[in-house]
Amino acid sequence: MDILVVLEDNRGSLHRMSKEAIAGAQKMGGSVSALAIGSNAGALAGELSGVDLTEVITVNHDLVSSYNADGYSEVVKQVIESESPKTVVIGHSYQTRDFIPRVSAKLDIPFIPDIISLEDGFVKQVLNAKLNASVTTSADQVILSFQSAMFSEEAMASGSCSSRSFDVNLDSSMVRAESEEPFQEAAGSVDLESAELLVSIGRGIEKEENIQMAFDLAKVLGAEVSASRPVVDSGWVEPFRQIGSSGQTVSPKLYFSLGISGAIQHVVGMKGSKNILAINKDPQAPIFEIADYAVVGDVLEIVPKLIAALQS
Ligand SMILES: Cc1cc2nc3c(=O)[nH]c(=O)nc-3n(C[C@H](O)[C@H](O)[C@H](O)COP(=O)(O)OP(=O)(O)OC[C@H]3O[C@@H](n4cnc5c(N)ncnc54)[C@H](O)[C@@H]3O)c2cc1C
Repeated sequence: MDILVVLEDNRGSLHRMSKEAIAGAQKMGGSVSALAIGSNAGALAGELSGVDLTEVITVNHDLVSSYNADGYSEVVKQVIESESPKTVVIGHSYQTRDFIPRVSAKLDIPFIPDIISLEDGFVKQVLNAKLNASVTTSADQVILSFQSAMFSEEAMASGSCSSRSFDVNLDSSMVRAESEEPFQEAAGSVDLESAELLVSIGRGIEKEENIQMAFDLAKVLGAEVSASRPVVDSGWVEPFRQIGSSGQTVSPKLYFSLGISGAIQHVVGMKGSKNILAINKDPQAPIFEIADYAVVGDVLEIVPKLIAALQS
């Protein structure tokens, strides 16, 4: 086996980042198999029956019916020992950060996390994403995790694949950790996922007093308000309004972006929008690469004029 993709169960269906990991693994070339763990393993394998994979290995055992780091790391270890993949690939999710370092330590296989490109070795961001570093390894086996949205889930090559159940050797002395229900952000009164119009605020709004301007624009347009993470972290809007890899994923008819740079962690949550209108004073801002309508200018000047024009 060349590549083993370890899948993540997102409440009974395949996690978006697992689909991206499969697309990335297929791009790397060679034979690609996948591993599904837990009580939904069969359902995950079913979801992949039309995908070009050698097979989906399923593991369902009482001690790993739902996620726990002890059990999952032991299962992945046993599957790697038995199947000897050259490369193990996984999406860089919170769950991955919790249990994959244990697999790496148990097997003494290097783990290169949060990869953003495979163009020149394994490329990852360092120094708060100011620099890219190319990492290589001389080890025979390696575990890689891909940053969210580095590959498109739509790029998964279709084909067919079978599934095979794998017997693990687990006992309660190996599984001491108990996981609680997966964390879910408390839902706010606003349903951003089904909003058709979103006015989204970025750090370009500059200060808290200016936030009202975005709410006023949203009101005139009949839109909901969302935001980038720094705006949420500053406490200027509620956490449920955050869009991105650690926030919500939305696909409105119009995403009206005000002073958002277009960092990948933000874009992953809104790139499915049917139309993107971005205002940014920096003509080089990455948001313009995906915007359908680009306005280079100052949001603090444009938004009040736009509100006045829409009201007249
Ligand atoms: C693990 C991890 C998870 C993350 N998850 C998320 C997430 O879920 N969501 C998210 O959004 N981010 C997330 N981030 C942060 C992300 O990397 C970016 O830092 C963030 O998206 C940047 O927000 P921003 O575009 O509002 O701010 P900035 O990057 O500071 O951009 C501000 C933009 O506003 C423009 N601007 C400034 N003043 C004006 C003006 N007066 N008029 C017009 N334009 C102006 C600037 O040119 C700039 O392009 C995450 C980061 C990490 C490491």
